[in-house]
Amino acid sequence: MNVNAIREQFPILHQHINEHPLVYLDSAASSQKPRSVIDAMKKYYESDNANVHRGVHTLGSRATDAYEGAREKIRAFLNAKSVQEIIYTRGTTTALNLVAASYARAVCGEGDEIVITPMEHHSNLIPWQQAAKATGAVLKYIPLQADGTITLEDAQRTITDRTKIVSIVHVSNVLGVINPVKEIAAVAHRYGAVMVVDGAQSTPHMKVDVQDLDCDFFAFSGHKMCGPTGIGVLYGKKELLEKMEPIEFGGEMIDFVDLYESTWKELPWKFEGGTPIIAGAVGLGAAIDFLQEVGLDAIEAHEHKLASYAYERLSAIAGTTIYGPGPRERAGLITFNIEDVHPHDVATVLDTKGIAIRAGHHCAQPLMRWLNVSATARASFYVYNTEEDVDRLADALHQTKEFFGHAIG
Ligand code: PLP
Repeated sequence: MNVNAIREQFPILHQHINEHPLVYLDSAASSQKPRSVIDAMKKYYESDNANVHRGVHTLGSRATDAYEGAREKIRAFLNAKSVQEIIYTRGTTTALNLVAASYARAVCGEGDEIVITPMEHHSNLIPWQQAAKATGAVLKYIPLQADGTITLEDAQRTITDRTKIVSIVHVSNVLGVINPVKEIAAVAHRYGAVMVVDGAQSTPHMKVDVQDLDCDFFAFSGHKMCGPTGIGVLYGKKELLEKMEPIEFGGEMIDFVDLYESTWKELPWKFEGGTPIIAGAVGLGAAIDFLQEVGLDAIEAHEHKLASYAYERLSAIAGTTIYGPGPRERAGLITFNIEDVHPHDVATVLDTKGIAIRAGHHCAQPLMRWLNVSATARASFYVYNTEEDVDRLADALHQTKEFFGHAIG
């Protein structure tokens, strides 16, 4: 993989921030976009723009072809059986909310169980809290080990024949933990439960095959995988989606409308009420082309190398705590704190040096409480990052520590 050639394709990276060349280490929050994605969206608006599924005119059919063509790219990318299993959403959050609002409310009753983990992003936690409240179901947690991982044994102990839904993050946005979702799906199925996977942090960085994982639902966001904001996907097995009711009603999703009754279109459109995010779908299709051209295996290996190097450099800074498992078991991000320096101060000082990292609770407040911190700093890597970026980060952290050490002392 030629990182320099890849970097050339990302216009935003070639700028100075606070008089330093930009080092972007916040891709877990949102990734940057290659020129091919920007150009595909520009071309769509400049030459093909119209509404989909309705116009008989040429632009209408071009827009429909672009929108549905991107759906086929997504199907192939995930190895789903059918495009009917690919529902466009605004992102992971909307996709998970759809399952919680439609599927969970239909299948859960008093005393049934929904099983998640304490490492979930709020988007894979609050929808289930709400579904549990609405149905009388019980929310149960697979406990975390000391290093933040979960074990299959604990999953087996937590999932019971009252469990209707198991919903787990594939890769944690805080700990970098890669969860054994395929194995947990097998346990869930043994008890007759469905397996939902929050793929927001896995889909951009590793090969995902929904048939191999045998998950029932899988959610992800375009903006974390070189695509635009405002577009994401819910994959669902056709037989489950067919039984589910839509949660948004209006144009686009109907078949027949009468004064008091209406019927819905077939899959996937019954879940896509209103004019969809057409340019977003086009951009996501272009992002998938880009990722496949580079190769997901190469991307994963590159990030793993960077995260291992970062782990080594950051753990050499005295007073630094790195959260989550060791470098061999983690995805391409490092969450950490420096003793006596608030993570917001760390991120602010780094920004003065042109380095963008994230600081805060990372939309995982229960996990912060488990870690016994209110916030952390996080550096996350992607296809365009280099070892030099890691060096700039580590050097700047040394300086930050010294600066605050002197200020405190
Ligand atoms: N799940 C995980 C693990 C995430 O990291 C994120 C975003 O940070 C989300 C869900 C929510 O994604 P979005 O805000 O794109 O809906």
